[in-house]
Amino acid sequence: MTNDDPISRSIAIDGPTASGKSVVGRALAERLRLGFFDTGMMYRACTLAVLRAAVDPNTESAVTELVRALDLDVRWPDPTDPRIVIANVDVTADLRTLEIEEHVSLVSRIEDVRHELVRRQRAIATREPVVMVGRDIGTRVLPEARTKVFLDASTETRARRRYGDERERGLSTTFEEVLEATRRRDELDNTGHRALRREQAAEGALIIDTDDVDADGVVERCVEAYLASNAPR
Ligand code: C5P
Repeated sequence: MTNDDPISRSIAIDGPTASGKSVVGRALAERLRLGFFDTGMMYRACTLAVLRAAVDPNTESAVTELVRALDLDVRWPDPTDPRIVIANVDVTADLRTLEIEEHVSLVSRIEDVRHELVRRQRAIATREPVVMVGRDIGTRVLPEARTKVFLDASTETRARRRYGDERERGLSTTFEEVLEATRRRDELDNTGHRALRREQAAEGALIIDTDDVDADGVVERCVEAYLASNAPR
């Protein structure tokens, strides 16, 4: 690969659940006129397919078989609003249910599933540079990306953000419930060789503590990092 291929020019953003990856990633993509892709949507879509097919998410071989054969497509009617399509049906609006939240870690911890999805995620960034967010992006999906960012925040801050989102969507959960769910997801995500904690961030990644910085401030720092690593030599 040359230094100027789409993967090298892509931006890899990692971080734990509700660390602000999607908000920051989408705003950054808009600013830099790049595409945006949230890899969590792929894991959620696979979980949706597993649940719909009534496959037990604990049965690794059956889940892997289903994922490998899944007719899963990503489309961009707008570069910062990716749509997930299964067998020609847009399922994007169905990916944030409680049922998926509760099962997604079981699906995403399966190494063969990760292998398959990492392959599909890489393929996206070979076509044009993107801002890609998720877990393992800087270390495994796009290790050649010149700009790598790891967003971190305390569990309380992340739970507060999620709580705000859920209230906005009209859900009647309490803060304590959201805090507990955030802890549970961290624990579950901690299985299966994923870069979840800052110590596991990709080499050279810019680590940003987002507890005391708002999304605009985080975007600014990412833009600076992007411009510095892509400056003409
Ligand atoms: O980021 P989001 O909460 O949508 O991700 C849903 C779940 O998908 C995560 O909790 C994690 O289990 C899994 N995931 C992953 N690797 C990624 C993106 C998401 O394991 N690159």
